[in-house]
Amino acid sequence: MSEHFDQLLRHSPLGILCDLDGTLVPFAPTPEEAVPDEAVKSLVKRASALRNVTFVIVSGRTRDFLEQHFQGTYLIAEHGAFRRGDGAWEPLRDEPVELANLAVRLDELLLRYPKASVERKSAGLVLHYRRLSRGDREAFVVEATALLDKIPLLKPNPSTLAIDVRPAYLQKSTAVPWVREHCGNGARLLAIGDDLTDEHMFGALEVGDDAIVVRHGETRRTKARWEFQETGQVMAFLEELVALREGLRTTVTALPKAVELRPRGRAAAQSLLVVSNRLPSMRSAKDGRPESVGGLVSALGPALQKRGGLWLGWNGKTIDDDEEPVPALEGDFSPGLLGLDLKERWYRDYYNGFCNKVLWPLFHIFPSRVRFAHSGWLAYEEVHRVFADAAVNAVAPDGTVWAHDYHLLLLARDLRARGHTGPIGHFLHIPFPPPDLFEMLPWHREILDAMLSFDLLGFHTPGFMRNFLATVGSLHPARVSDEGIEYQDRRTRTGVFPIGILPGDYKNAEAPEFAEEIEGLLRILGPAKLVLGVDRLDYTKGIPERLLAFGSLLERYPEFRTKVSLLQISVPSRADVTDYAEQRSQVEEIVGRINGQYGEAHWVPVRYFYRAYEQAQLAHLYRAASVGYVTPLRDGMNLVAKEYVAAQSEDDPGVLLLSRFAGAAVELREALLTNPYDIDGMADDLRRALTMPLEERRDRHAKLLARVYGSTAATWGEAFLGALAACR
Ligand code: UDP
Repeated sequence: MSEHFDQLLRHSPLGILCDLDGTLVPFAPTPEEAVPDEAVKSLVKRASALRNVTFVIVSGRTRDFLEQHFQGTYLIAEHGAFRRGDGAWEPLRDEPVELANLAVRLDELLLRYPKASVERKSAGLVLHYRRLSRGDREAFVVEATALLDKIPLLKPNPSTLAIDVRPAYLQKSTAVPWVREHCGNGARLLAIGDDLTDEHMFGALEVGDDAIVVRHGETRRTKARWEFQETGQVMAFLEELVALREGLRTTVTALPKAVELRPRGRAAAQSLLVVSNRLPSMRSAKDGRPESVGGLVSALGPALQKRGGLWLGWNGKTIDDDEEPVPALEGDFSPGLLGLDLKERWYRDYYNGFCNKVLWPLFHIFPSRVRFAHSGWLAYEEVHRVFADAAVNAVAPDGTVWAHDYHLLLLARDLRARGHTGPIGHFLHIPFPPPDLFEMLPWHREILDAMLSFDLLGFHTPGFMRNFLATVGSLHPARVSDEGIEYQDRRTRTGVFPIGILPGDYKNAEAPEFAEEIEGLLRILGPAKLVLGVDRLDYTKGIPERLLAFGSLLERYPEFRTKVSLLQISVPSRADVTDYAEQRSQVEEIVGRINGQYGEAHWVPVRYFYRAYEQAQLAHLYRAASVGYVTPLRDGMNLVAKEYVAAQSEDDPGVLLLSRFAGAAVELREALLTNPYDIDGMADDLRRALTMPLEERRDRHAKLLARVYGSTAATWGEAFLGALAACR
């Protein structure tokens, strides 16, 4: 620790951003009583006079208060609303902050809680409730926040027992670039603070900077790397700094002990960063080795390992809205996984809201399922800022960033705003819609602007890419040419990169531990031919249509009754979104109807399972199925189609019955292509699949298998990263 601070405190130029209350000055029952004593003032004066050190007090207090106690010191007042360097005070924004009405609304509340007080400032006010009894504090916070909730203000800050009320843009994070600019090139910054307003300051720091939190015995989460327990330690620390820089000491061995909360370690400055909404779930296999689950891991794991990269994404956990997410390494996996929590509000408005109720249905061409809410868009933008903050701290400024999917369309814009200079690519795992659909998005211009901050945009199929180019052509002033899309001195390239699987995983996959369960399942199905559907339970997958077509087959071609069974596996997905819950009921209702209508004592036409199976179990089922029934209404790619092909025996392969609206249909041309909107037509295609002669099956399968082996998960990752590198 001493060595670390010895280096940092000797660094020139050095910027110190120091909070006042709770950091340099202990708390008192009222703000009037909490004033800096002579020791604090004299130390601040000495720190401010140091050469090559910019010492700044970053406070929520008013200009008058700060000026009264600290002359000749750089000051930031009211959480960034005003700053004073060598000259006069400057406001952060020119327009005044209008909070007059609010003060009137609060008066009534304060009448009922006479021990609470209000501190009025130019750019806001603070409600102090430290003097209330413990029982009253909670009631006061509930009432005050209910009153304030309709205004975009900050949340109560329980650590200082005060509620800051001010525009959300007034945050101490604005101090960081200002101080860095004052310090000049090559500066390192150290921020010291104690409460949530200081976390914004910590969050704006860069690799090479550092932060110390003063925790007063609390254990809330923090972005700071180091911890002090009380203000006295901050004073002792600054004494050492000043003595060292004044030349009174040669080392800083007398530093108070700071607890290291998290090592800088692997999270710092990687050369490749993958960012996806959700981190892959990793489990330790029986032999203790990390095991990955899911296609994206197979595709990206090797590329990340080769380049020593990190993967940033949501860890699947949510936190209260008044907590701040802190990026943290998840377990000890390779590649390293950097996890972020989502606030409850973000889970609702960003993930289930804008992502799953706007972008997902619109991009899959289900406009009637789109539910716009402006809160969703605001959350979408906010979460991008959080991801961008975490990303710039985790990747070198000139490193490569690869963002994934519709959850992160704005990421490059926000990374560029934070000074990232390295290549940034994006791959869209779902379809891109035609211009007239995209135009339905009230924010289509903002999204296109942001997408054009990427260097490379990748799509699964030429059709999706054409839709994107046509959308830019009709809705945006950028110039589209063979060289890419040019806009405001930037060029964005586009490319087609159909994702693949690792086919070896499905070929002769041995899974003795699962064999019994699957053998049992196949025994129940009896001698009937197996038609297999495997999907997430999602309305884009066309499961009701598929079931109805199976019913139509049994109705119009009775010779298939008792001779075929449909096994439909539906993996639970987004069950807290209404459309998904409705889809589940609809599917179950149709299954019941078909089984009631056609079932016989020894034959159940449709077996339906609402659960997930392991990859090896699926491989076993794929091999046993005479028809892979893959009929989404619209799909970015559809990996199940490729997995089914990979799992077939070459001597007696089954038939892939594939929707022409799956991205996979572009490559898998030898599949039997079908139109899932035409129920009777699909039943006829199913009949053709069930009666296809062996020779034709072998011929089609050999060609399909060559395609599945020709472009795999691994070649996909390398092709995209190669194209991204070539953009520069
Ligand atoms: N999958 C699984 N267990 C199941 C059902 C599906 O592991 O019980 C996997 C399947 O093997 C495939 C993925 O889930 O790799 C689904 O990918 P796909 O592209 O078909 O659809 P998505 O869910 O991405 O829309």
